Amino acid sequence: MNAEIISVGSELLLGQIVNTNAAYLSQELAILGVNVFHQTTVGDNDTRLTEALIQAKKRSDLIILTGGLGPTKDDLTKESVARFVGKPLVHHEQSLHNIEEFFKKRNRPMSDNNRKQALVIEGSHVLMNHFGMAPGMVVTFEGVLFVLLPGPPKEMKPMFTNELLPYITAQVGSRESITSRVLRFFDIGESQLETDLLDIIEGQTNPTIAPLASEGEVTLRLTVKHADEKEQQRLLDETEALITNRVGDYLYGYGDTSLIEQLFIQLQQKQVTIASAESLTGGKFSGMLTSFAGSSSVFRGGVVSYATDVKEKVLGVQGDIINKFGVISSQCAKEMARCAKDQYRAEIAISFTGVAGPARQEEKEPGTVFIGIAGLTKEPLSYELNLAGGREAIRDRAIKYGCFYLLNE
Ligand code: ATP
Ligand code: MG
Repeated sequence: MNAEIISVGSELLLGQIVNTNAAYLSQELAILGVNVFHQTTVGDNDTRLTEALIQAKKRSDLIILTGGLGPTKDDLTKESVARFVGKPLVHHEQSLHNIEEFFKKRNRPMSDNNRKQALVIEGSHVLMNHFGMAPGMVVTFEGVLFVLLPGPPKEMKPMFTNELLPYITAQVGSRESITSRVLRFFDIGESQLETDLLDIIEGQTNPTIAPLASEGEVTLRLTVKHADEKEQQRLLDETEALITNRVGDYLYGYGDTSLIEQLFIQLQQKQVTIASAESLTGGKFSGMLTSFAGSSSVFRGGVVSYATDVKEKVLGVQGDIINKFGVISSQCAKEMARCAKDQYRAEIAISFTGVAGPARQEEKEPGTVFIGIAGLTKEPLSYELNLAGGREAIRDRAIKYGCFYLLNE
């Protein structure tokens, strides 16, 4: 099946909004194994939208339009498609009811314009909008499926997943269902991961394996098609084992779980308490860790020992160490972690010290980072990193590494 996405909206052409709908739909369709060969963006203009429909119909079996289903004059997607397929707009009782309810709940009067939103293309399959007013539609015309979805992402996404997909699956009559598993990796680049797994990625069709990199992390999405749920899981497990056999050291979690969340989960499971001493990261690590409900069961406390004399006087780092090695040093990082662990009576402690930049410090380049860990092993240990990027990137990346090291403690 060849699909095409038509994004309707003059704001998109003016660059006032970013076309996240097309990105979302392309990603979702790729997961389903549907090829998207074209994305078109047109303004709120009947002539140009009709031209786009003519082009799309020649080359695609599934055409998904987003935007322009609202009540205002510039919203003309429904009208243009209706004319294109030669069908009138007719009243849809359930949608009108949905719109009336929407206004009743908000205690606002309803205008005639809003009634217009309850019009649908005759003979179309209507997709209910549970997060807004405009209904979506699926129209079949000369063997091509035209799908109309609303513009606002918070309406479009649930309609796509909960209304459109079940409808299309039922139409296609396939009993095969699709599910995916996301593996999350850290401390390995996308190209390295791809190189290490090249033969598996290329040789594998069910599940398929799709790598994606962002923010210093790489994910692999395994997507499997099978009618039987147990068999789906078996195929996923089998492929995951092939992958972890090679790059398992870098795997830290699944799904949407971030490194810090994974750390929180692991600390909770193992019932280990933690403390922190933060210089470089200015308290961000503690802030992130305490964003999870129930963090008091694992997080003891931390100190933001930013200035050198605070490291000494508040945290208790020995002056000798600072004088001899400086604060941007492995020795200082270890000592900071040891002090935090003792002071806060935690089982494990982490410290962050380094140069966020832009200026050098202690003759060290921005991106030089030392992370100290004291606790479960006998002697405190430290890791040195040379990170790239601006201040925020360096700080954020340092926190991710800190979490990763703790997970492997
Ligand atoms: P409404 O009923 O809100 O008018 P609509 O279906 O008519 O919805 P548009 O008027 O085209 O949709 O767009 C409404 C809003 O939805 C836009 O202002 C924008 O915030 C968002 N939106 C529309 N198209 C896209 C897109 N392709 N990507 C991301 N956001 C979009
Ligand atoms: Mg609109």
